[in-house]
Formats: sequence, C-alpha cells, structure tokens
Amino acid sequence: MNSPGNIFRPDGTEHDDTELNEAESRLRESENVLKTVFNSVYDAIFLHDVEGRIIDVNDRMLELYRVKKEQALSMSIEGDFSSVKNDFAFLPAVWLKVLSGETTLFEWKARRPHDGSEFDVEVFLRRIELPGRDAIIANVRDITERKTMERDLRLAAKVFDNSIEGISITDTRGIIEMVNPAFTHITGYSAEEAIGSNPRILKSKHHDAAFYQQLWDSLKSDDHWSGEIWNRRKNGEAYPEWLNISAIHDETTGMATHYVGIFHDITEIKRNQEAIQYQAHHDALTGLPNRILFHDRLHMALAHAQRYQQKVAVLFIDLDHFKNVNDSLGHAAGDLLLQEVAQRLLGTVREEDTVSRLGGDEFTIILPDVGPLNDAVMIAHRIIAEVNRPFRLGGQEFFVGASIGISIYPDDSVDTGTLIKNADMAMYRAKEHGRNNFQFFTRSMEEKALQRISLEAELRRALERNEFEVFFQPKVSLGSGAVSGMEALVRWIRSDGSIISPGHFIPLAEETGLVIPLGEFVFDSACSQLKRWIEEGNRDLSMAVNISGRQFWLEDLPGTILRIVRRHGVPPQNIELEITESMLVKNVDKATTILRQLKEHGFRLALDDFGTGYSSLYYLKRFPIDTLKIDRSFVKDIPHDTDDMAIAESIVLLARSMKLAVTAEGVETLEQLDFFKRVECDYIQGYLFSPPVNSATMDGLLSAGAIMPIMGH
Ligand code: C2E
Ligand code: CA
Ligand code: CA
Repeated sequence: MNSPGNIFRPDGTEHDDTELNEAESRLRESENVLKTVFNSVYDAIFLHDVEGRIIDVNDRMLELYRVKKEQALSMSIEGDFSSVKNDFAFLPAVWLKVLSGETTLFEWKARRPHDGSEFDVEVFLRRIELPGRDAIIANVRDITERKTMERDLRLAAKVFDNSIEGISITDTRGIIEMVNPAFTHITGYSAEEAIGSNPRILKSKHHDAAFYQQLWDSLKSDDHWSGEIWNRRKNGEAYPEWLNISAIHDETTGMATHYVGIFHDITEIKRNQEAIQYQAHHDALTGLPNRILFHDRLHMALAHAQRYQQKVAVLFIDLDHFKNVNDSLGHAAGDLLLQEVAQRLLGTVREEDTVSRLGGDEFTIILPDVGPLNDAVMIAHRIIAEVNRPFRLGGQEFFVGASIGISIYPDDSVDTGTLIKNADMAMYRAKEHGRNNFQFFTRSMEEKALQRISLEAELRRALERNEFEVFFQPKVSLGSGAVSGMEALVRWIRSDGSIISPGHFIPLAEETGLVIPLGEFVFDSACSQLKRWIEEGNRDLSMAVNISGRQFWLEDLPGTILRIVRRHGVPPQNIELEITESMLVKNVDKATTILRQLKEHGFRLALDDFGTGYSSLYYLKRFPIDTLKIDRSFVKDIPHDTDDMAIAESIVLLARSMKLAVTAEGVETLEQLDFFKRVECDYIQGYLFSPPVNSATMDGLLSAGAIMPIMGH
C-alpha cells in the first residue's frame, strides 16, 4: 500500500521484532535528518512518479506555492502549479530524457493555485530510484529576483546601447572598462580602442591642470561632477560636451568601484547660441555691428583710451537723400544701397576701427586712438568721397551724400551716451550746413540743443494756453491794385506781449509733431475769419494757408481739412493751400494723388518758395498746381541783382506758359513793385503794401477797399 506523503517510508511496511528495533531506530534517526534536510533546502521539491503524480513535496514548496500539503498532494504539476503561458509541447521530450537517466534544467513559469499568481522558477529534474519504483524529483527554484535583475540589466544594456549620450565606465583609476556606441559616435574612438585606455585620450588643450584637479576633487568628495568640458575627438577636433560623472559604489563595502561618465555633445547647441549671440549683436542687412555691440565697443574703447591716455573719435554718419532712393526705387534697392555703403565705409577705416549701423541710414564709426584730430578729418573726407561715388542700382546711377558729426573723447565727453549724442548733434549741424560735409561737436551746439529742449516745452505750454494767433498778410492783384486775398501766418504772442515769428518755432514744431495741432488751429482760425469776411461781402477773397510736410503726409489730409471747411461753411475754392516742392518729392506718386484729391474737393494749390528747391519742370507738370510763389530771396535784391531779376522774370514766363498764376513775395520797395508790374506778375505780397496784421487791422484794410499805389505805366 502506498502511503502518499512519506517518501521515507515509501513502502509503508511496519517492523516490530526487537532485533530490528535498534536498526529501525537508527533508520528513524537518519530518516528524521533527511526529512529536516528535505524541508529546509532553499528549493521547493516535488517528488512525483513517472506518470507525473505528486508523491511528496517539501515545506519550502508549500511556502512558495502557498498551499496546504493535503491539497498539494491531490493536485497536478502541469494543471495546478504551472502557468498556461508555458510551452508544454516540449515536456514529453524532457520527460523521456529524464527517464532515460539524464538530468535537465529549464525555466518555467509557476502558478499558485489559490490566486493564480505566477512567478519564474528554474526546474531541475532527475530520476531517482525509490525502493520498488522509479520516481522523479523536481527541484524548483524561485528565480523571480534573478529575472527582474536580468530584465533590468537588459534594459540597462538597451539604454546603454541606444543612448544618444556618450557613456563611459571607468574603474577608480580612470581606466575605461566600457563605452557605448554613442561614445564612439561622438569621440571617434571605437570600443576596442577606448577600453583599457585612459580618458586622457580625449583631453583637449582648453583646460588647465587646476580644472582637472577640481574635477577629481569634486568626484572624490561628492562622488559627482558635472559641467561643460572641451574634449578632443580622435580626428583632433576639439568639441564642447556636457559631462556628468558619478561614482558607483559596492553595495556591501560602500567603496567606489567605478565611475560612469555620461556626456552630451553640445557643439550644435553652442553653435546655435553663438548664432543667436551674433544675431543679437549684428545688423541683419549689412552684417555690421548693431547698436548694442557699438555701445559695447565704444565702452571698451573708452576704457582702453583712459588707461593709455588716448583720444577716441565717434563719427555719426547720416546719408543725404537716402529717402529718395527708397521712395523712387523701392526698399529692395534701398537695402542694396545700404549694403554697398556698409562695404565702402569698411574700406575707409583701419582694422581696429568699428563701423556699425544704428538703423535706417545711420552709421557710426569708432576710431580708437585717433591721435591728432586730423586723423578723424582725413577719415571723414574719405567717407564723403566714398559715399559720393555713384551707386549703380537697377541699371541706373544714384547719388547720395553723407553728413557726418564728430565727437571726441575725452574733449567732448567721457561717457559713451553723451559722446554719441554729441556726434549726432554735430551731424545735424552738418545737415544744416547744406549736407555732404562734416562738423565737429562744439559747446555752442550743446547750448543750442538745450535751448531747443526748453523751446519745445514752451511750445507745448503755449498750445495749451492758446498763445497762438493767426495774422494775415494781404495779397494784392497787380491788375486792379486791390486786395484779392491774403496769407494766414501764425504768431506766437507770449504772456509778456512779445511776438515770436514762426521762423523760430515752425521747424521745431515740425520735428516734434506739434505742428499738427498747431496747423489745425491755424486752419480753423483762418476758415472762421474767412467766413466772416465772405459774409461781409468779399465773396472772391482767397485765403492762403501754409501746410507743413508733417501735415501733408498725415493719414487723411484732404478729408480732415474738408471737414473743417464744411464745418465753417466756406467754399474750398476760396482756400489756397501753400505747399513746398521739398515736401512733395518724398514720394512723388503719392503726393500727386493727394494733390489731385485736394483739387477734386475744390481747393486751390500754390507752390511756395518757388525757385529755392528743385524747381523741376517735370514736377511742375505733374502736380495740379494753380499758383507759383516766387521766393523772397529772388525779390529782395531787385533791382540791383540782375541774375535775380532774370530768374524772377523767367519764373513769371514759365508760370504764364503753364497757365499758372504767380505771386511775388516780400515786395518791399516801389522798384520791386515796378519790376513785377512790368513783367506782368499777377499778385504781390510784401511790406510795401502791408506786413502780416491781426484780424482787426485786416478788417480795416478790407472795408476801406485799400488800393495799391500803382506806379508808372
Ligand atoms: P512763408 O510761407 O514764405 O511766408 C512768408 C514770410 O515772409 C512770412 O514770414 C512773412 O511775414 C514774410 N514777409 C512777407 N512780406 C515780407 C517782406 O516784404 N519782407 C520781409 N522781410 N518778409 C516778408 P513769417 O510770418 O515769419 O513766416 C515765416 C515762415 O513760417 C513762412 O514762410 C512759413 O513757411 C512758415 N509759417 C508761417 N505761418 C505758418 C503756418 O500757419 N503754418 C505753417 N505750416 N507754416 C507757417
Ligand atoms: Ca507761405
Ligand atoms: Ca514763401
């Protein structure tokens, strides 16, 4: 009878004769020892017969599979203790092998019957002979931990192999034990070349001994170092990498056994950073240093100059008539011109000088250590000559000029900001001097600038306090001798009663934009007076109003003034807008459009200061003008200056041929009156008849029907 569950009494026989008792007790003793061993081994043990029925299991098996012995003995290995994931197909072969006396070892997925949980085991099978029959003993070892470790290792190996970071593992002396493919990719050294060598093979000349000392110190004290380091590839090229080194410790002893270096090639990142740096400091169009870098360089130049007691010149260059190129040829051509200018400027200076573009058509040059001032003068002359050479754009030759302002460290200032400001101021002075020349900064410029600042503040205040008043200067028809119209001229009457003429503040108002509200005020006042005079019977009275460039190029000048005119109920035909050629040439096409719109609304148009600017027939033909105003500069020396007389006369003839009316301004003497009568000029305006007067005085002139003394003829 088989008594399951006791392999040590497999046959189950009983012995009771005393002779055997001693032997039996010895046997029992050894049985107990075996049993203890059987139950205390690390492996779970299944004992089963050749049919696969479980005969016995040990305690460890019960523990591992979490079953009671009675249950275990009634279960089957394949059905109850194995995962269905196993490959059962190969078992028969295993079985045969084992039965034929061989041992076998394989991995298996075990299963706990009570909850179905699975775990990895390693199974060792061996046939044993029990008294009277064969059996198979299965040693089952839980390998969960080993499996996890293997998986982790596999994962680590995968990471190691596939990482884009270079990885090297060295021993504590720094000898390389392992490198990954990325290491090879980045450094150029194959694993074979690297392993066994010292990372010194990667060393570049970028760092000194102290750097590496600090690296090792930090590794020794913190088990870690990270930072940017320059290494050298096998081909000799130095490159920056971000390196992270950590120590690996032996778990039991706590001693560092290895160092893992993980690094990232940051060449690309650096290059991008440099590109960004470059872009931040250079002008995209010309490639010259920009404002930021210019300030930097100037700062450095001044620091250097201070130490060595040198002089530094700052040249502020503004191109003359650059806008013409932009307006007539378009921005692409303008860009080409600026690039060409940049090249020419670079050609005029020494290696150590900085040429930069501040924006628009403004360039600056730093001349460190200029020595005697004529160094700066020489370069300024050279720049003007270079810029004056014609530019070929779109098959056409273009001419521009350069206005240059120069300030000197330490004479004019010791700080960068003021030096630049002073050079800028001197540049404006050069513009005032007719452009295409250079000016050194002087103290009086500074005073003038300060005056301008206070004048601007005063102008604003004057606007708020209504200190402006519009005066009127009569215009006399030479045909009838009667007042045919007038020009509105603004006056600034200060609280102390003094009158400031517009020549003093119009340019500044123009620059600051104050001319816009001011111009609107003038236009509004002129319309309101005109309305009154028309109602008083002067139906054909013409009112001339000066329009500044700033106003002309406002968003919707025709619409704006039309609204004012309508509000006052005066006919646009009675309004003559005085404009100058110089403001129209900024954009001839657009100007023509605006002028046409004004004409369509019914306004009359006069070209002011004629003869001083372009006086181009081409423009005259294009612009829908009604009247030419001969500038006072051609009038004042009549009859002494025969040239002026010839010019004035030809303007009258020109106007006649183009069917335009002509007004001569600034007529002060009877000789001048006589002259304009003789050449058959249409109108005159000037002190001879009346200076600009306030509206009350104008009232008197109009109601008295004042007549010009007509001389001669
Ligand atoms: P403009 O348009 O050429 O005006 C004529 C200037 O010549 C006026 O100077 C006038 O007073 C002056 N004038 C007239 N007859 C004689 C004369 O016989 N002899 C002399 N020596 N001068 C004479 P004003 O009023 O000082 O104006 C100067 C400039 O200011 C004007 O030149 C005009 O360009 C500008 N301006 C005046 N009022 C306004 C205005 O309301 N708006 C704008 N945008 N500009 C104005
Ligand atoms: Ca005028
Ligand atoms: Ca004028």
